[in-house]
Amino acid sequence: MMSTGIQQFDFLVEGKIGAALSGKYFDCVNPSNGEVFARVADADEIDVQIAVSAARLGFDHGRWSHMSLAERGAFLVKLAALIRDNAKELADLECASTGKTIKHATFIDVPSAAEAFEYFGKLSGRLIHETIANSSPLLSMIEREPVGVVVAIIPWNYPLIMTAWKLAPALLSGNCVVLKPSPVACVSVMFLAKLAAQLGLPKGVLNIIASSRAQAGQELVSSPDVDMVSFTGSTKTGQAVMSLASKGIKKLTLELGGKSPNIVFADCDMDAAIGGTLSAIFMNQGQMCTAGSRLLVEESIYQEIVDKLVARAKSLKIGPADNFETEFGPLVSVAHRNDVLRFIEKGKKEGAKLVCGGQIPNIDIKGAYLEPTIFVNVRNSMSIAQEEIFGPVLCVMPFRSIDEAVGIANDSKFGLAAMIWSKDLEKANKVARRLRCGTVWINTYGAFCNEVPFGGYKQSGFGRELGLAGLLEYTELKHIATDQTPGGKSLVTSWF
Ligand code: NAD
Repeated sequence: MMSTGIQQFDFLVEGKIGAALSGKYFDCVNPSNGEVFARVADADEIDVQIAVSAARLGFDHGRWSHMSLAERGAFLVKLAALIRDNAKELADLECASTGKTIKHATFIDVPSAAEAFEYFGKLSGRLIHETIANSSPLLSMIEREPVGVVVAIIPWNYPLIMTAWKLAPALLSGNCVVLKPSPVACVSVMFLAKLAAQLGLPKGVLNIIASSRAQAGQELVSSPDVDMVSFTGSTKTGQAVMSLASKGIKKLTLELGGKSPNIVFADCDMDAAIGGTLSAIFMNQGQMCTAGSRLLVEESIYQEIVDKLVARAKSLKIGPADNFETEFGPLVSVAHRNDVLRFIEKGKKEGAKLVCGGQIPNIDIKGAYLEPTIFVNVRNSMSIAQEEIFGPVLCVMPFRSIDEAVGIANDSKFGLAAMIWSKDLEKANKVARRLRCGTVWINTYGAFCNEVPFGGYKQSGFGRELGLAGLLEYTELKHIATDQTPGGKSLVTSWF
């Protein structure tokens, strides 16, 4: 803590907490009030190189990759405990930097991050053990090995959870990592770096740096010392990352944007569908990759759903994120709020009808506030229905048949998630199988589970996080074949 009351955060590199070589810091603004509340060490190209070299040396040394799964897992379990011990500070920082409500940060972000570290930490011994296939006289050993140096790049909307989803499987499988959070919201991750420094990990295994420069991500992805890139962020940046990674034929996972359909059938449980729909678009102020931003409602209940949603959305308590009573905080920044406002103007121009919100509420002129917003008379071809707005803007469209609902739902370049509300579970399951996306929630929203893989189809990316599939992304497969023919004579040794 500096004397001004502004907290200062440094890097974790080579096992130590330290400042950038230049001594530079960038400011972090609290979107609830527009005040600078923290400063974070700002990586130049040389700091990026030092972090990558530390990870390279750490990996090539072999101490980490040669530890047993149980030994590596124990570090993750310890980090989970440290997160729980520091839960209040982490939640406060997550809330101050992202604008998510303190209730959200306390009950979702911090515990979910701890649980993800613990889940992977306790997988030890159950996974990535070699399997042995015997095709006599050959003994084939198939082994899973770490990929090497992994660069993990994360967005600003769920900094702690995204960190856990990447670090835990990458480290458990024996890789050395450089993680870079977004400069827009990174202080909770930099605090986590301080906790990780207490673990006693071998030097270079885990490095966490931040930078105000957009090029820092490019420098990490294109470094010849990096073997794999695990990226979460927008589809546009994902395209740039894929292009850069292709130059070194690097292993890559991309967790990108979404425009998820939320399909409400007339036979739904109305209260559940209304509550779930509100959560799907207004939790975290709609800044969720899986946000149910396209609401498709069966025609016979369309008006009833719209009226109920508008009434509930108008009653949400908007305010500073650090108040436990607040239901709807600010967006992450004034710049992002203004981008969302531009989409709202575009929607009006395209002919959609605004029935709720769309305005800056009168709370704090320096804050990044925006009312929960609902559009009707939306056509799926409009840009507000096709582009990811990444804010609290709901587009409502009616449908008359299952085929029409599935057609609209799949008419998107994205394929991250979908929601279905119906009491007819056989119908809902049939519809789920026709949707081109990585996750379908039936009669719920946002049910993530550490055991279950998460990821996208189409331009929502490729690769999976969490579960066994998420762990295996961070491994290479090796085949070691030994000829056991007695006397050493086999077809190949006696061919010539
Ligand atoms: P973004 O793409 O702008 O930035 C993501 C990260 O990439 C940041 O750390 C940023 O500094 C870095 N970056 C920027 N330019 C880069 C470059 N050229 N090369 C390498 N790295 C670069 O995304 P954002 O605004 O931080 O986050 C919002 C986006 O993230 C939304 O599209 C959302 O849907 C997506 N997201 C996806 C998931 C998922 O699991 N699919 C989860 C959360 C968020």
